[in-house]
Amino acid sequence: MLHIGCHLSCSKGYLNMGKEALSIGADTFQFFTRNPRGGSVKPFDLSDAQELNSFMQEHAFAPVLAHAPYTLNACAAEESIRDFARRTMREDLERLKHLPNAMLNFHPGSHVKQGAERGIELIAGMLDEVYTSDMPTTVLLETMAGKGSEVGRDFSQLKAIMEASKAGDRLGVCLDTCHVYDAGYDIVNDLDGVLDEFDRVIGFERLKAIHLNDSKNPFASHKDRHEKIGQGALGLDALVRIINHPRLRHLPFYLETPNELDGYAAEIMLLRGKYEG
Ligand code: FE
Ligand code: FE
Ligand code: ZN
Repeated sequence: MLHIGCHLSCSKGYLNMGKEALSIGADTFQFFTRNPRGGSVKPFDLSDAQELNSFMQEHAFAPVLAHAPYTLNACAAEESIRDFARRTMREDLERLKHLPNAMLNFHPGSHVKQGAERGIELIAGMLDEVYTSDMPTTVLLETMAGKGSEVGRDFSQLKAIMEASKAGDRLGVCLDTCHVYDAGYDIVNDLDGVLDEFDRVIGFERLKAIHLNDSKNPFASHKDRHEKIGQGALGLDALVRIINHPRLRHLPFYLETPNELDGYAAEIMLLRGKYEG
């Protein structure tokens, strides 16, 4: 069974996202915990969350992915921005206590001229402060394309965050296919080699989710522009090899391709048709 879904708008509430996912043939989905480019958040609706929980159970949903806002930068140079990151992460984790089927994914951050080493230290420090042991949610670091001063452009930086944080052994990784290809991991011609490297550097058991995206830009471009499935530099064959790979095929896949709902439905149908077994 292929576990696949797409990014959905959270503006209609929790239960409605579940229903929307089901209506397009998905058995999971991703949503922003709050306005992705600002950070404002609606009041938490506990009964809506509980209704989604029963809905997901009833329909055997795979884990869903909550995505932190893009404005969350735990390793910013300015203290006020780092403070926003701490508050946002803590608040989102508090809410997610009520959504046990969700993991929280975040972009490690951009170190803005402080250097990757300092960035890693700040990110680990933020996690130590807010990701306390009473929080059951698995937090995922996303692999980044390496544009600007992004931390997480290679596997060793993600590993370094895990090693620097006391919460490190509770962290997982979300591998974004567009990002790693843009970062210079050749998952088109050497998928096995990249997965071996992931295992060697981070440990394969840490891989919890895949963002399944094609890329608008060529290999190692460090750009991060997602493309529709099969219409970019990765191509359909490479993405089909990824969903069928013995080390990946059990993981949940989340589309973040430039689509409306009908486009997502078509991609999910296409990929379900290419899934073996
Ligand atoms: Fe992301
Ligand atoms: Fe992503
Ligand atoms: Zn991206």
